[in-house]
Amino acid sequence: MGWMDTDKVPAREMGVGFQKCANMPNTNAYSFNGGTDVVMCPFGWRNERKKNGQYTITGFKNNPAAITQNDPLDDYSIITGTILHEIYHTFMGNHNDVQVNINGQLQTAYGTYNCMQLALQNSAQTLDNCENIMLASIAMFLDGWDWYTGVATPL
Ligand SMILES: [Zn+2]
Repeated sequence: MGWMDTDKVPAREMGVGFQKCANMPNTNAYSFNGGTDVVMCPFGWRNERKKNGQYTITGFKNNPAAITQNDPLDDYSIITGTILHEIYHTFMGNHNDVQVNINGQLQTAYGTYNCMQLALQNSAQTLDNCENIMLASIAMFLDGWDWYTGVATPL
């Protein structure tokens, strides 16, 4: 596993397929299926991705009372979820981004809503979708609440 600042490393040293984050302004992070590296882009660290001032979910694990009832699971996946999602693409998971039909249009199954739609339409594909695996991981980690509806529900 490795980390690099793609905007500072010369392109010839980055390897085939790597791109500079500056050329992908709305990208949180990326990785390659079966690869060894995760690239976190500055967009992924923006302040609005924090939840109650935090980038990671460890504080919520240690203090479940800081989780608000009916908040969507997406709100708590934050940076931790992004890193997990990308790790599941690498050789450690070798999973994909699966498409789902949302109101007649194919979209990537990102976020709780699309992942739940994927589960309804083709549950077997959820086992190959990084986002579903990541959200399930976050829900299990934040076990002070029930997340089966996609929002924080008291146990
Ligand atoms: Zn992905």
